[in-house]
Amino acid sequence: MDSDRNVDDIAASFGALSNPLRVRILLALTETRRADWDHEGMSYSDLRAAVAAEDGGRFNYHLDELRGQFVRGKDGHYWLTSAGSRVVDEIYAGTFSGSPGGISGPVGRSCPEDGKPLEATFEDGVLSVSCPEHGTVFDMWLRFGAGADRDLEELFAWANRRGLWYLESVSWDVCPHCAGQFGEATFRPAGGDDSTDTAGSVIVDMTCDSCAISFGIPAHQYALTRPPTIAFLHDHGIDYRSLAVEYGAAEWAHETTRTDSGVLVCFTVDGERLELELGQSLETQSYRRDSARA
Ligand SMILES: [Zn+2]
Ligand SMILES: [Zn+2]
Repeated sequence: MDSDRNVDDIAASFGALSNPLRVRILLALTETRRADWDHEGMSYSDLRAAVAAEDGGRFNYHLDELRGQFVRGKDGHYWLTSAGSRVVDEIYAGTFSGSPGGISGPVGRSCPEDGKPLEATFEDGVLSVSCPEHGTVFDMWLRFGAGADRDLEELFAWANRRGLWYLESVSWDVCPHCAGQFGEATFRPAGGDDSTDTAGSVIVDMTCDSCAISFGIPAHQYALTRPPTIAFLHDHGIDYRSLAVEYGAAEWAHETTRTDSGVLVCFTVDGERLELELGQSLETQSYRRDSARA
């Protein structure tokens, strides 16, 4: 995985961040990301004043250490590079600032299998939702310090929205973590290879070629993000964006079967049925909608 990366260069870049004044310079340059930014960056004197650097030589030295990788400058003005901007994002997210402590509690949803109330825990930037019987049924990486100003309901809603966004991203063959590409999708029955549960779920396994993150997501969840499904659910008063992706909803049913070229996903709401065929790369191949009772 790291054979095509120069770890010495990366270590040197991290080294360039290891000074409080340099971190203050990056934070001061956050201002250059504002919408009213005149695209000229921040002037040398404004930047130096913003970090209260009295010693000009020392300030110049540390600014130089950031230039190239994290800060760019031209005509006496400075702004963050993409890498500098990513570092600032993580600083604001609290990623490097220690644990704000975990929170946990009920999320007002029940397990689709056994109806037991689900509990959520937010810790170390990850929201995990679990059933007392089935263990963890869903987890989603959010932001490290997100629990400081959001309650569990908000975090849960956010995690589900992000889940839909992950589905979109993965099905466009873009890794949501590193923008890498995925290898070929493989399909398996949710209950294992010997499962005879034909009305169950088919899991789609995808692994990022670049960062090795793996996703094992039920095929019907990919089908949720497709225009025919969005329209179908909308016609039945369901906003797909408000769905909790892992659990579905009591008012609609789904089943997935394996086909030669991918999977066939069927949704049923109020007696109306939508069939959606997804191919080997999860592309929508065809769909059919009818009101005959399933
Ligand atoms: Zn359960
Ligand atoms: Zn990746």
